[in-house]
Amino acid sequence: MYKIAVLPGDGIGSEVTVQAVRVLEAVGRRFKREFTFSEALVGGAAYDATGTPLPGETLDLCLSSDAILFGAAGGPKWDSLPPQLRPEAGGILSLRKELGLFANLRPVRVFPSLENASTLKPEVVAGVDLLIVRELTGGLYFGKKHRENLPDGSFRAVDTLEYTTFEIERITRVAFDLARKRRKKVTSVDKANVLESSRLWREVVTALGLEYQDVSLDHMYVDNCAMQLIKNPKQFDVLVTENMFGDILSDQASVLCGSLGMLASASIGGRTGLYEPAHGSAPDITGQQLANPIASILSGAMLLRFSLDLGEEADCIERAVTEVLDLGFRTADLMEQGKTRVNTAEMADLIIERI
Ligand code: NAD
Repeated sequence: MYKIAVLPGDGIGSEVTVQAVRVLEAVGRRFKREFTFSEALVGGAAYDATGTPLPGETLDLCLSSDAILFGAAGGPKWDSLPPQLRPEAGGILSLRKELGLFANLRPVRVFPSLENASTLKPEVVAGVDLLIVRELTGGLYFGKKHRENLPDGSFRAVDTLEYTTFEIERITRVAFDLARKRRKKVTSVDKANVLESSRLWREVVTALGLEYQDVSLDHMYVDNCAMQLIKNPKQFDVLVTENMFGDILSDQASVLCGSLGMLASASIGGRTGLYEPAHGSAPDITGQQLANPIASILSGAMLLRFSLDLGEEADCIERAVTEVLDLGFRTADLMEQGKTRVNTAEMADLIIERI
C-alpha cells in the first residue's frame, strides 16, 4: 500500500490535481496497486482556512507519506500579504525547504503529435528530449532579503544570491547520475562572467565532472542558453543550473512542448518526493475547466517512477497520454485546426479510458 499526500492548493491547482488523482486510481485498478490519497491544505487556500500557507498538519502529512502530489499556490487575492504569509514563499517554497527537496527535475519532451503546437518551427522542436535539473533550495529565492527607507523617501531593496560548494556539488551529482541513464551529456548553466556565485558554481561542477569521465560536460552562460534553447534545443540532454535561472529557463522551455500545461516536474532529494506541474495557479483561466491537466498527470507518472519505483505503471500513463494526443484531442491551450477540443475533465477521461 502506498500513501500519497495530495495538496491541490489554489486556482487551477485543484482542477488539475483532482484529475491526476483519478488517473492514478485508474492505474491502481489496472495494476492492482493500493494507493491511499490524503488531502491537505496549502497556499492561499490554507491561509484562508488557518491563517498560515503551510499548516503543521500539512507538513506532518507530507512527512508521513510515500510521495506528495502538489497542484499550485498563489493568486492575486493573496498578493498583498507579507512575504512569509504569501502562498508562494510561505507555502511551496517553505515546503520544499522543510522537506529538503533540493533537486527539481523538469523533463521537456516534445510529443510527436504536438510538433506543430509550438510557436517555434516544427523542425526546431521535433525530437527534443531534454531534462532541466534545477537547484531548488538555495540562491536568490532563499537568500537574505530586506528593504530599507532612504532619506529621500524612496526605498532600497536587497536580495542575496549565495551558494556553497556543498549545495552545488549535490545538485550536480544528481545531474551527472541522471545523464548516465540518458545520452550522457551535461550542460551547466551559469553567469560566471559576472557573478561570483557562478564562478564557484563552474569550479565545483568542473571538479565533479572529473569523477564522471563517461559523461561529457560543457558550460554555457545563461543568456546564451536562453537563446540556444529556442534556436537549437536538440543540442541539450541534461541542463543543470541554479534556482532562478532554472525557474526562468524551464518556463521558456515549455514553449517547445506547445504549452506550460504539458510540463511535469519532480522535486527530490529529501525523504519524501514532491511532484507538481511546472505551471502556477493560472488565475486567468481558473474555474472554467480550460486548464490542461496533462502536466499534473505526467507529474503523477514521475511520482510512480521516482518515489514508488513503479516504472511499468508510469510508462502506462505516458503511453495513454501519447495515444490521446495522437488521436487529436486537445485542451484549449494546444488547440489547432482539425483537432477535437476537450475540457480538463474530458482530457482526463480519455487518458483513463486508454489506461
Ligand atoms: P501560471 O503558470 O499560473 O500561468 C502562466 C500562463 O500559462 C497563463 O496564461 C495560464 O493561463 C497559462 N497556463 C498555465 N498552466 C496552464 C495549464 N495547465 N493549462 C493551460 N494554460 C495554462 O503563471 P503566472 O500567471 O505567472 O502565475 C499565477 C500565480 O501562480 C501567481 O500567484 C504565481 O506566484 C503562482 N505560481 C505558483 C507556482 C507554484 O505553485 N509552484 C509556480 C508558478 C507560479
